[in-house]
Amino acid sequence: MPYDTQPKASHFINGAYVEDTSGTPIDVIYPATGEKIATVYAATPAIVDQAIESARNAQAAWAAMSGTERGRILRRAEQIMRERNHDLSVLETYDTGKPYQETSVVDATSGADALEYFGGMAATLTGEHIQLGENWVYTRREALGVCVGIGAWNYPTQIACWKGAPALACGNAMIFKPSETTPLCALKVAEILHEAGLPAGIYNVVQGMGEVGSALVTDPRVDKVSLTGSVPTGRKVYAAAAEGIKHVTMELGGKSPMIVFDDADIENAVGGAILGNFYSSGQVCSNGTRVFVHKAIKEKFLTRLTERLGNAVIGDPMDPDTSFGPMVSERQMNIALGYVEKGKAEGARLVTGGARLDREGFYMQPTVFADVTDDMIIAREEIFGPVMAVLDFEDEDEVMARANDTEFGLAAGVFTKDLTRAHRVAARFEAGTCFINTYNDAPVEAPFGGSKNSGVGRENSKAAIAHYSQLKSVFVRMDDVEAPF
Ligand code: NDP
Repeated sequence: MPYDTQPKASHFINGAYVEDTSGTPIDVIYPATGEKIATVYAATPAIVDQAIESARNAQAAWAAMSGTERGRILRRAEQIMRERNHDLSVLETYDTGKPYQETSVVDATSGADALEYFGGMAATLTGEHIQLGENWVYTRREALGVCVGIGAWNYPTQIACWKGAPALACGNAMIFKPSETTPLCALKVAEILHEAGLPAGIYNVVQGMGEVGSALVTDPRVDKVSLTGSVPTGRKVYAAAAEGIKHVTMELGGKSPMIVFDDADIENAVGGAILGNFYSSGQVCSNGTRVFVHKAIKEKFLTRLTERLGNAVIGDPMDPDTSFGPMVSERQMNIALGYVEKGKAEGARLVTGGARLDREGFYMQPTVFADVTDDMIIAREEIFGPVMAVLDFEDEDEVMARANDTEFGLAAGVFTKDLTRAHRVAARFEAGTCFINTYNDAPVEAPFGGSKNSGVGRENSKAAIAHYSQLKSVFVRMDDVEAPF
């Protein structure tokens, strides 16, 4: 390994790396080769306890600092992340298999954006004054306390920052549990935050599988849980959090529609469909995996799509020219390949791809099915791999009803040159994040999250502040108290 991928220790607690080899070992596998690149150990109950205690002990003093002081530390961390972008991107590529071409512009950079944005916002967080004649009420915006972040494996650095930055800006402490599949990058985020001056105990990382997440979520000393994961896990975590009436943010899965009308710019629509299905080898929650294409342009769309997929550079993810890498794990690749078989069995037309690549690592081809119908499994279930389903439509009302006929509501997109239709369709989508003539943009300034089974709450933007703080109302009486007796 040209890079040292083995972390100094498995966990980061109270400002320092901590090891406990009595936990279950977790091998970290480089998806491009299948080789082991590191081992970490799942947190034992003692490690979980240590992380929660250190967060609890440190949080009040952190919340008592001014927003300007807290923000300054976050922005210093942002600077360090940007300076180390290359090394962080290489590590993210080892952890996830995503091409360096992507990780160098999307992962640590978007984490840094969150630190910059919420670092800047920390000083602006205020309550309000409500005058009631001579008397008044003022509100204090207060931290929640100890927040738990639980991450998925597709964007480990980004998720660690998208949850950490607003939590810390609001004066909370965080304990972050990365996915067991990608445990490396969150440790670097913790290291950088502390190098930037974060007090010990405010951002902790513990490793482990679902049991560790569950132990954190059910602990009465934890005040909030933010999960990025699948809908089934979301149900479990939400239910466990409900027992303790904890605050939650749920960023869950999707099966998002993308509608291409017959007046659309075909090149842009094909580009959007490629970004929304094959970026990160299709392992993106908001992907527009149900591509509804107007019958009049369907064959033209499929021809251009196939031609452009032929330009994908599939190979070594560390090569900056590679634009399509392996999937995160053998398990995830087999899940996606299993869906390809289901699509074929259900009678969908395989236009391109569909197979594992004959090389080491967990590579499968970018895959497109056409003539997909709404009832097919590949049109209903989240695949979380590079498998696009193209469905036909002719009428706007018909396609809207079909696009919304899903348990999910994470994202939705429309390609059309008709201005009023674009906004009408966006208004009718049952989804938290919509795109007009683009797909999968996720700038920190905009709220991100799902409706229906895709989630609760919003990440990024000013909206995230409401999910990491609570309001206290303070009534102030200037005149005498009038009591009945
Ligand atoms: P999972 O739901 O399998 O896991 C998510 C996280 O939850 C992991 O860290 C996992 O640990 C942990 N976990 C599992 N069970 C429990 C439990 N009972 N209590 C607490 N924590 C638990 O998702 P994946 O990691 O497979 O990620 C893919 C999913 O994430 C997809 O459905 C995708 O759509 C969604 N996602 C959503 C995004 C969004 O913003 N809406 C963004 C990215 C992904 P471990 O895996 O280590 O066992």
